[in-house]
Amino acid sequence: MKYCTKCGNKLSNETVACTQCGYNPNAPKPTGQNNYLLNELSQRIYVDSIIGIISGVLQLSSGIFCIAGIINIILAIKEMNYSKEIVKNPTGIVKRYKPVTIPIIVLVYNLIFGGIIGAAASIYQLAIIRAFVMENRKAFDAMQ
Ligand SMILES: [Zn+2]
Repeated sequence: MKYCTKCGNKLSNETVACTQCGYNPNAPKPTGQNNYLLNELSQRIYVDSIIGIISGVLQLSSGIFCIAGIINIILAIKEMNYSKEIVKNPTGIVKRYKPVTIPIIVLVYNLIFGGIIGAAASIYQLAIIRAFVMENRKAFDAMQ
């Protein structure tokens, strides 16, 4: 019997990748270039989550856009966790950021129900995060 070094899950001796968190100690370590790309992406996602929290708080305190504010804060907290997770488990990044439908729906939703301030995080996500992922698409696709 062995244990996952990342999450402590019990593993049978033949298991390569952890059945709970997916960590694989034998997977190739990211190269310097990959580390740079992941840290840069993680930072941009973190900044976006801060923008989301600030706009959510402003929406809440406006007294008009409260529901949009609560939704934006919840999404921003998830995004903040994701910014840390992505460095450890850089899979599915292109798949996540390539589609523009959801950020555009969130953007339109915010413009209607959240005021112009609510659109800031969506615009940042499309212009700063998505653009970075698509620019380095091949490298992100190759990360496992
Ligand atoms: Zn694990």
